[in-house]
Amino acid sequence: MTSFTRLFSPLVVGSCTLRNRIVSSGHDTVMVDDGKITDQLIAYHEARARGGVGLIVVQVAGVHESARYTSHILMAIDDSCIEGYRRLAASVHRHGTTIFGQLFHPGREVMESQDGTSPVALAPSAVPNERFRVMPRAMELSEIDAIIEGYAAAASRLQRAGLDGVEVVASHGYLPAQFLNPQVNLREDEYGASGPNRLRFLERVLTAVRERVGEQFVVGVRLSLGERDPAGLDEDVVLDVARSLAHACLVDYISVTVGTSATLAGSDHIVPEMSIRNGYTAPCSQRVKSLVDVPVFVAGRINQPQEAERILSQDQADACIMTRALICDPNLAELALAGATDDIRACIGCNQACIGHFHAGYPISCIQHPETGRELLYPRGARSSRSRSVAVVGGGPGGMKAAAVAAERGHRVTLYEAQPQLGGQILLAQQLPGREEFGGAASNLQRELERSGVTLEMRTRIGAIDLAASQPDVVIVATGARPYRPALEVMGSPIIVDAWDVISGVSLPRGRVVVIDWRGDWTGIGVARMARAKGHDVTLCVRGYAAGEALQQYVRDAHLAALEREGVRVHPLVRPFGVDEDTVYLQHVLTEKPVMIHDVAAVVLACGHESDSQLLGELRSGPFEVHAVGDCLAARTLEEAVLEGLRVASAL
Ligand code: SF4
Repeated sequence: MTSFTRLFSPLVVGSCTLRNRIVSSGHDTVMVDDGKITDQLIAYHEARARGGVGLIVVQVAGVHESARYTSHILMAIDDSCIEGYRRLAASVHRHGTTIFGQLFHPGREVMESQDGTSPVALAPSAVPNERFRVMPRAMELSEIDAIIEGYAAAASRLQRAGLDGVEVVASHGYLPAQFLNPQVNLREDEYGASGPNRLRFLERVLTAVRERVGEQFVVGVRLSLGERDPAGLDEDVVLDVARSLAHACLVDYISVTVGTSATLAGSDHIVPEMSIRNGYTAPCSQRVKSLVDVPVFVAGRINQPQEAERILSQDQADACIMTRALICDPNLAELALAGATDDIRACIGCNQACIGHFHAGYPISCIQHPETGRELLYPRGARSSRSRSVAVVGGGPGGMKAAAVAAERGHRVTLYEAQPQLGGQILLAQQLPGREEFGGAASNLQRELERSGVTLEMRTRIGAIDLAASQPDVVIVATGARPYRPALEVMGSPIIVDAWDVISGVSLPRGRVVVIDWRGDWTGIGVARMARAKGHDVTLCVRGYAAGEALQQYVRDAHLAALEREGVRVHPLVRPFGVDEDTVYLQHVLTEKPVMIHDVAAVVLACGHESDSQLLGELRSGPFEVHAVGDCLAARTLEEAVLEGLRVASAL
């Protein structure tokens, strides 16, 4: 008997019954080829279905030629889409999971095109988009009619492919929401100028879809209950829309989210990063639920079954959308049902490999679980044909992943870690402001080690001679990195410290602190915020156009807002070349003009790190099969370290 009684109770949605209330919502995967479903996309969703999820809502499918908002959008504009959807639906149904598809038109929210040119964006009116800098053209009435027909025809194709329902995406400032928004819809015809007129487009879309698919096919709608931006739709308007659609029996369920694609601040809610509270949108779905009698789903960083159960038991929603939680752990539902909650690999909201990959145009994955998006390469439960003894040196993320995967594959694995704690640089990262949840990556990997039966040798600094004595078949070196110090001209005895030391608690003298940031990641920003919180006057000097350039946009936005709120000055486009007792000497990277900052008490170097490859060098000529993973190979991020741990161990 599960302790998650609400989460694992069936839910009736229109003509379907979901086996539980865990939902994977529509999310772009970049696992699409020429607008069609690929084998990889099928394997990706099948892994979640096999792991017990109740409902999968497949990513958006364009309903009209003008709906191509990225170069890798799925399209449902002709019958050639049906075969891929049919194979996907069959693979998901095989495991007892229900499957819906999303019907989509972006309106003016056009991110890119296939060849780099700007496509013609259509919208209710010619009102520009702030985030993608798109000026759309106001739609002709004939274009509105054609797009409404596109929704109905696409719904029919998904029905013929064997899906159980469709969801019309009217959230996040996309086309139906643009019609609803009086700041974006300036029309004077039957589609604008009043609330009922602005609702007409969405009503006609839903009516056309329902007429085409009949009563036995689920039709839902996704709404942003407030776009969280002054230029966005406000909550009260959307509450009225939800009530109208439900009372007119146009929808079988309502999927509630917040935010908009149209603005920087609004888009940060599309995939909220780790400093945003888990389940923060539940009060929004509760308001919708109080007005309608159809099931209400909610999304909003719900990353654990305990949080989902709380939301459901407080009647704030009928089902919980746990998309990233499932990207991170496809077996979440199965583990929760079995009561093995400690074994669930919780999503930490870093956004690096899921939405971060999507924004960069690469297939989505997870920094903690690189098997995601690579299901065809790394099938669940694969075993090695022979058992070997494996020594892993270094208990950072790469070493932990390599050890866990090697042990799961049947090898005898010992992990040696010099420190008293596992985690490597994660232990530093989690101490930075806004990065506290990053520590979850270490505890998740540690749990994988425990489950897989790896022998741990803590506080053990092992060298080439010790390894030669123990004679393992394979050595995996994961010795990590140390801070990198750029060549600086230093005059006198200025105080210069590494970011890692500041994070570890080294105190800085009173006065002005200059942080030199080369990587554009969370380290420079984090130590700048730490120093500011201790009362220092802080200037963060970055080489790029802005701080945090290497971070995923929603993460960067959160940190840039914090820097602004907390009063940290940012100096862009500078590189350091010298420091004396009280001055930092920099150079503008474009003009080469000198830039000086005076009255400086201390300089903090957040200039990345360099490989600690000494052991690797010593072992190269030794008698073992030697592999290296992570920073000791080349200093990068946790994502590459964990992926390399998986790759190396999977080949043993
Ligand atoms: Fe979660 Fe980060 Fe994995 Fe994305 S990459 S699913 S945010 S842990």
